Amino acid sequence: MKIDFHMHTKYSGDSNASPDEVVARAAAVGLDAIAITDHNEVKGASEVAQIAEKVAPSLTVIIGEEVTTDMGDVLALFIKKRIPPAPLRAVIFEIKKQGGLLALPHPFDSLRGSRPKVEKMDDGIIKQVAAVEGLNARVALPWENARAVSFAQEHNLPLIACSDAHFPEEIGAAWTEVACANASEGAIKAALLAGKTEMRGHLAPPWVHLKTTAAKIFKKAGVWK
Ligand SMILES: [Zn+2]
Repeated sequence: MKIDFHMHTKYSGDSNASPDEVVARAAAVGLDAIAITDHNEVKGASEVAQIAEKVAPSLTVIIGEEVTTDMGDVLALFIKKRIPPAPLRAVIFEIKKQGGLLALPHPFDSLRGSRPKVEKMDDGIIKQVAAVEGLNARVALPWENARAVSFAQEHNLPLIACSDAHFPEEIGAAWTEVACANASEGAIKAALLAGKTEMRGHLAPPWVHLKTTAAKIFKKAGVWK
Protein backbone atom coordinates (compact mmCIF):
# COMPACT_ATOMS: atom_id res chain seq x y z
CA MET A 1 0.00 0.00 0.00
CA LYS A 2 1.18 3.48 -0.92
CA ILE A 3 1.05 5.67 2.19
CA ASP A 4 2.12 9.23 3.05
CA PHE A 5 2.34 9.71 6.82
CA HIS A 6 3.07 13.46 6.89
CA MET A 7 1.28 16.39 5.22
CA HIS A 8 -0.36 19.68 6.08
CA THR A 9 -3.52 21.67 5.33
CA LYS A 10 -4.49 25.33 5.70
CA TYR A 11 -4.91 24.67 9.43
CA SER A 12 -1.12 24.94 9.65
CA GLY A 13 0.27 28.48 9.68
CA ASP A 14 2.61 27.70 6.78
CA SER A 15 0.21 25.95 4.38
CA ASN A 16 -2.80 26.99 2.34
CA ALA A 17 -3.89 23.55 1.11
CA SER A 18 -7.66 23.16 1.29
CA PRO A 19 -8.94 19.80 2.54
CA ASP A 20 -10.75 19.28 -0.81
CA GLU A 21 -7.55 19.79 -2.81
CA VAL A 22 -5.63 17.43 -0.52
CA VAL A 23 -8.14 14.62 -1.06
CA ALA A 24 -8.25 15.20 -4.82
CA ARG A 25 -4.48 15.22 -5.20
CA ALA A 26 -3.90 12.20 -2.91
CA ALA A 27 -6.43 10.19 -4.92
CA ALA A 28 -4.97 11.41 -8.23
CA VAL A 29 -1.42 10.28 -7.37
CA GLY A 30 -2.72 6.87 -6.28
CA LEU A 31 -2.10 6.99 -2.54
CA ASP A 32 -3.98 4.35 -0.52
CA ALA A 33 -3.71 6.23 2.78
CA ILE A 34 -2.60 9.65 4.03
CA ALA A 35 -1.97 11.03 7.49
CA ILE A 36 -2.85 14.69 7.97
CA THR A 37 -0.37 16.14 10.44
CA ASP A 38 -1.02 19.84 10.98
CA HIS A 39 1.02 21.74 13.55
CA ASN A 40 -0.72 21.28 16.93
CA GLU A 41 -4.13 20.86 15.27
CA VAL A 42 -6.42 18.07 14.04
CA LYS A 43 -9.26 20.10 12.48
CA GLY A 44 -7.82 19.71 8.98
CA ALA A 45 -7.43 15.98 9.51
CA SER A 46 -11.09 15.59 10.52
CA GLU A 47 -12.24 17.64 7.52
CA VAL A 48 -10.08 15.66 5.12
CA ALA A 49 -11.46 12.41 6.57
CA GLN A 50 -15.05 13.60 6.10
CA ILE A 51 -14.46 14.73 2.53
CA ALA A 52 -12.61 11.53 1.60
CA GLU A 53 -15.48 9.43 2.91
CA LYS A 54 -17.75 11.11 0.35
CA VAL A 55 -15.56 11.61 -2.69
CA ALA A 56 -12.71 9.07 -2.35
CA PRO A 57 -13.98 6.26 -0.10
CA SER A 58 -11.02 3.99 -0.89
CA LEU A 59 -8.58 6.55 0.54
CA THR A 60 -7.83 5.94 4.22
CA VAL A 61 -7.29 9.13 6.23
CA ILE A 62 -5.20 8.78 9.37
CA ILE A 63 -5.76 11.47 11.99
CA GLY A 64 -2.37 12.82 12.92
CA GLU A 65 -0.65 15.89 14.30
CA GLU A 66 2.83 17.42 14.31
CA VAL A 67 3.11 18.22 18.00
CA THR A 68 5.48 20.79 19.47
CA THR A 69 7.42 19.40 22.42
CA ASP A 70 10.41 20.40 24.55
CA MET A 71 12.53 18.13 22.33
CA GLY A 72 11.25 19.44 19.00
CA ASP A 73 8.37 18.48 16.72
CA VAL A 74 7.15 14.89 16.65
CA LEU A 75 4.45 13.13 14.63
CA ALA A 76 1.50 11.66 16.49
CA LEU A 77 -0.22 9.19 14.13
CA PHE A 78 -3.53 7.33 14.50
CA ILE A 79 -4.75 9.63 17.27
CA LYS A 80 -8.37 10.52 18.03
CA LYS A 81 -8.21 14.05 19.36
CA ARG A 82 -5.86 17.02 19.48
CA ILE A 83 -2.78 16.78 21.69
CA PRO A 84 -1.65 20.19 22.96
CA PRO A 85 2.06 21.11 22.94
CA ALA A 86 3.75 19.65 26.02
CA PRO A 87 6.98 18.03 27.16
CA LEU A 88 7.75 15.00 24.97
CA ARG A 89 7.21 12.46 27.77
CA ALA A 90 3.70 13.81 28.37
CA VAL A 91 2.97 13.83 24.63
CA ILE A 92 4.09 10.19 24.31
CA PHE A 93 1.84 9.26 27.24
CA GLU A 94 -1.11 10.93 25.50
CA ILE A 95 -0.36 9.32 22.11
CA LYS A 96 -0.31 5.88 23.74
CA LYS A 97 -3.49 6.62 25.69
CA GLN A 98 -5.21 7.36 22.38
CA GLY A 99 -3.85 4.19 20.76
CA GLY A 100 -1.58 6.18 18.47
CA LEU A 101 2.00 5.84 17.30
CA LEU A 102 4.98 8.19 17.63
CA ALA A 103 7.16 8.97 14.60
CA LEU A 104 10.15 11.30 14.23
CA PRO A 105 9.99 13.74 11.29
CA HIS A 106 13.24 15.02 9.69
CA PRO A 107 15.39 14.39 12.81
CA PHE A 108 18.61 15.85 11.35
CA ASP A 109 17.26 18.77 9.29
CA SER A 110 19.69 21.48 10.42
CA LEU A 111 17.64 24.15 8.61
CA ARG A 112 14.60 23.50 10.77
CA GLY A 113 15.00 24.58 14.37
CA SER A 114 11.92 22.55 15.22
CA ARG A 115 13.51 19.20 14.28
CA PRO A 116 13.20 16.49 16.95
CA LYS A 117 16.33 16.65 19.11
CA VAL A 118 17.20 12.96 19.05
CA GLU A 119 20.51 13.66 20.79
CA LYS A 120 18.51 14.63 23.90
CA MET A 121 16.30 11.53 23.85
CA ASP A 122 17.25 8.69 26.14
CA ASP A 123 16.76 4.98 25.34
CA GLY A 124 13.39 4.99 27.12
CA ILE A 125 12.07 7.58 24.67
CA ILE A 126 13.72 6.04 21.58
CA LYS A 127 12.02 2.72 22.44
CA GLN A 128 8.64 4.44 22.05
CA VAL A 129 9.40 5.54 18.49
CA ALA A 130 7.43 3.55 15.90
CA ALA A 131 9.07 5.03 12.79
CA VAL A 132 11.68 7.52 11.61
CA GLU A 133 11.48 9.63 8.46
CA GLY A 134 14.48 8.56 6.42
CA LEU A 135 13.20 10.52 3.45
CA ASN A 136 11.40 13.79 4.08
CA ALA A 137 10.84 15.43 0.70
CA ARG A 138 11.29 18.89 2.22
CA VAL A 139 14.73 18.29 3.68
CA ALA A 140 16.91 20.64 1.65
CA LEU A 141 20.24 18.89 2.25
CA PRO A 142 20.03 15.24 1.10
CA TRP A 143 22.77 13.98 3.46
CA GLU A 144 20.58 14.98 6.39
CA ASN A 145 18.04 12.39 5.24
CA ALA A 146 20.92 9.90 5.01
CA ARG A 147 21.82 10.63 8.64
CA ALA A 148 18.22 9.86 9.62
CA VAL A 149 18.46 6.52 7.81
CA SER A 150 21.64 5.64 9.72
CA PHE A 151 20.03 6.68 12.99
CA ALA A 152 16.98 4.47 12.35
CA GLN A 153 19.16 1.51 11.38
CA GLU A 154 21.34 1.96 14.48
CA HIS A 155 18.24 1.80 16.67
CA ASN A 156 16.48 -0.84 14.60
CA LEU A 157 13.53 1.43 13.83
CA PRO A 158 11.27 1.25 10.74
CA LEU A 159 11.88 3.89 8.07
CA ILE A 160 9.18 5.94 6.37
CA ALA A 161 9.28 8.37 3.44
CA CYS A 162 6.93 11.37 3.58
CA SER A 163 6.13 14.36 1.40
CA ASP A 164 5.59 16.75 4.36
CA ALA A 165 3.49 18.55 1.72
CA HIS A 166 2.36 22.08 2.56
CA PHE A 167 0.87 22.60 -0.92
CA PRO A 168 -1.23 20.01 -2.79
CA GLU A 169 1.19 19.72 -5.71
CA GLU A 170 3.84 18.34 -3.35
CA ILE A 171 1.69 15.33 -2.47
CA GLY A 172 3.15 12.29 -4.19
CA ALA A 173 6.79 13.48 -4.03
CA ALA A 174 7.58 10.82 -1.43
CA TRP A 175 5.62 7.98 0.13
CA THR A 176 6.08 4.75 2.05
CA GLU A 177 5.33 1.40 0.49
CA VAL A 178 3.82 -0.52 3.40
CA ALA A 179 3.42 -4.28 3.01
CA CYS A 180 -0.13 -4.75 4.28
CA ALA A 181 -3.05 -6.52 2.63
CA ASN A 182 -5.40 -3.56 2.87
CA ALA A 183 -5.34 0.10 3.90
CA SER A 184 -7.32 -0.28 7.12
CA GLU A 185 -5.80 1.50 10.12
CA GLY A 186 -5.24 -1.80 11.90
CA ALA A 187 -3.41 -3.37 8.97
CA ILE A 188 -1.23 -0.29 8.44
CA LYS A 189 -0.32 -0.05 12.14
CA ALA A 190 0.59 -3.73 12.37
CA ALA A 191 2.76 -3.59 9.23
CA LEU A 192 4.46 -0.41 10.43
CA LEU A 193 5.26 -1.92 13.82
CA ALA A 194 6.62 -5.01 12.07
CA GLY A 195 8.92 -2.78 10.02
CA LYS A 196 7.38 -3.80 6.69
CA THR A 197 8.16 -0.46 5.06
CA GLU A 198 10.11 0.74 2.05
CA MET A 199 10.85 4.35 1.19
CA ARG A 200 9.94 5.73 -2.23
CA GLY A 201 10.14 9.09 -3.99
CA HIS A 202 12.42 12.09 -4.22
CA LEU A 203 13.03 15.54 -2.78
CA ALA A 204 10.61 18.38 -3.55
CA PRO A 205 11.96 21.20 -5.77
CA PRO A 206 13.67 24.07 -3.86
CA TRP A 207 10.88 26.58 -4.63
CA VAL A 208 8.58 24.89 -2.08
CA HIS A 209 10.65 26.56 0.66
CA LEU A 210 10.11 30.01 -0.85
CA LYS A 211 6.40 29.31 -1.15
CA THR A 212 6.29 28.31 2.52
CA THR A 213 7.88 31.60 3.53
CA ALA A 214 5.35 33.44 1.33
CA ALA A 215 2.50 31.47 2.91
CA LYS A 216 3.60 32.44 6.42
CA ILE A 217 3.75 36.14 5.49
CA PHE A 218 0.48 36.22 3.50
CA LYS A 219 -1.42 34.23 6.11
CA LYS A 220 -0.25 36.50 8.92
CA ALA A 221 -1.31 39.52 6.84
CA GLY A 222 -4.71 37.91 6.21
CA VAL A 223 -4.23 37.82 2.44
CA TRP A 224 -4.32 34.00 2.38
CA LYS A 225 -6.84 32.16 4.49
ZN1 LIG B 1 5.43 18.87 8.73
